[in-house]
Amino acid sequence: MERYSIIHEKNPREIVLLRGSGCKWRRCTFCDYHLDASLDEEANFQLNKQELDKVTGIYRHLEVINSGSFTELDKQTCNYILRVCKEQNICLIHFECHWLYREQIQNLRQEFTNIGVEVKIKIGVETFDHDFRENVLHKGIGEANPMHIAAPFDEVCLLFGLGGQTSRSMERDIQTGLAYFERVCVNVMVENSTPVKPNREVIRIFLQEIYPKYIENPRVDILINNTDFGVGA
Ligand code: SF4
Repeated sequence: MERYSIIHEKNPREIVLLRGSGCKWRRCTFCDYHLDASLDEEANFQLNKQELDKVTGIYRHLEVINSGSFTELDKQTCNYILRVCKEQNICLIHFECHWLYREQIQNLRQEFTNIGVEVKIKIGVETFDHDFRENVLHKGIGEANPMHIAAPFDEVCLLFGLGGQTSRSMERDIQTGLAYFERVCVNVMVENSTPVKPNREVIRIFLQEIYPKYIENPRVDILINNTDFGVGA
């Protein structure tokens, strides 16, 4: 499992994949990466410290992901992230967060603002089609519309390559993401241990009709494989 990488293109930054106590939601039908978790806080900290020690501050910009939400990282790891930010002159940091924890974002922003670091929070919405998102993907965001979802967040992840998606629906999701969020990250569905399978025809349509339109857009990241940022397995 690779847990540290440097992204040199588009929005250059270092990225670390840390381990937390595990996603509390765990109900998204397509997801198995919440399995990267442990309740042993000391073991998590030791592993996370090892990866955080690789951060050099090359771009003064760091993304922290943990197969869940930042709230699931242990206290020692959180303190160590703050320390690394100070020591490596990080000025911008990204975290991921589920809708469940939106009330906790402000405190996190404040904690980092106090040391001069700007925070960006990414939410996995997967699609703005409410029925598909909630009744098929079980995202747990409820009835909130894009404007409400975006209010506490800065960036959004979308998931493409699922049966039922069309060129029109994917285009609409990206356009909605760009209208309400600073940045959009498109993940293409890959085979995993869940019963949700990538739909080859939808992926073909995405690659042919949507990908070329957005690949050069500086506000859009596209991960054809979930390891394209250089972390994960
Ligand atoms: S997609 Fe995110 S919120 Fe959903 S189960 Fe996986 S880790 Fe949890």
